[in-house]
Amino acid sequence: MKIRPALQAHIKEAAQILRQGGLVAFPTETVYGLGANAFDALAVARIFEVKQRPEFDPLIIHLASPEETRLVWSDQPEMAKELIKQFWPGPLTLVYFKNKKIPDIVTAGLPTAAARMPDHPVALALLQEAALPVAAPSANLFGRLSPTTAEHVAEQLGSQVDLILDGGKTPVGIESTVLDLTGDPTLLRPGGTPVEEIESVIGPIKIASTSSQPLSPGQLEHHYAPRTPLAIIKEPVQLPPGLKIGYLAFSTPPPELNVVQVEILSPRRDLREAAANLFEALHRLDQANLDLILAETFPEQGLGRAIMDRLRKAAGAHSPLKPAG
Ligand code: AMP
Ligand code: MG
Repeated sequence: MKIRPALQAHIKEAAQILRQGGLVAFPTETVYGLGANAFDALAVARIFEVKQRPEFDPLIIHLASPEETRLVWSDQPEMAKELIKQFWPGPLTLVYFKNKKIPDIVTAGLPTAAARMPDHPVALALLQEAALPVAAPSANLFGRLSPTTAEHVAEQLGSQVDLILDGGKTPVGIESTVLDLTGDPTLLRPGGTPVEEIESVIGPIKIASTSSQPLSPGQLEHHYAPRTPLAIIKEPVQLPPGLKIGYLAFSTPPPELNVVQVEILSPRRDLREAAANLFEALHRLDQANLDLILAETFPEQGLGRAIMDRLRKAAGAHSPLKPAG
């Protein structure tokens, strides 16, 4: 495991690791983040793997400058410009329609991306050096306390992270305020930037209703789910005739099923690769005008747990099919 003081040479090394698809833990003004290149689905899948998080949640993308919003959003709305001028760098995360180049695993399949410019010299130096948007949740194991020192990160994630940049203790901070700008500005999470200050710039903002307010990332109810009914299968099933069926496979196509579209997530049965491909595959199946999507059961270990969590949410109220024969 490598913990390096955040000197210029080590920041360069960390930036290089990010560009090569590695993971770097770095300090922000709130807590230490576990960062990966936001354009690299496989690197982002590794974030979830290392954190041992049993579900996917949308990540905040960290930016070196306001101009980089064009890399993560479809455009920069007027209201975002005003807020950015006033509050960046700082604990204000803005949500807007995502740029197609940002893979779906970063946003947990949502059509929107959350972005902010952190107010911490080490984070900013790293982001500038990497010249990449960096997706980063807190650098802790699932269910454990958020890390405020490099030692906390080392203790929890140690050998799993390619490099920990030690910038000392993070200034005791609360999380960032999360504001959705895709419609009328709506507060998704209160945090370090007071609502009153935001309202003094753009006028009154709505507060998301309790059910959609992400009290914690796992409680988000607006996670992406396909509109096409989806059923998880454990073994071959008897299919009602005449249905247009799509199939989500781990590594091999379905044996003899008469399906019109197949998505294979990882021919070499690698759960990280499967996770990296999951959301795009679900989107493609959802856009294929199917009557039903059948999804295989994935091994519930490592990232397989998060994949199954997502499939179960997608299956929702749809009744499972009965095994054949
Ligand atoms: P954290 O990284 O722990 O500060 O948490 C990130 C917060 O941002 C969580 O509450 C997420 O649910 C929220 N978030 C991230 N991306 C989005 C998005 N596209 N839409 C809505 N909320 C988001
Ligand atoms: Mg966290």
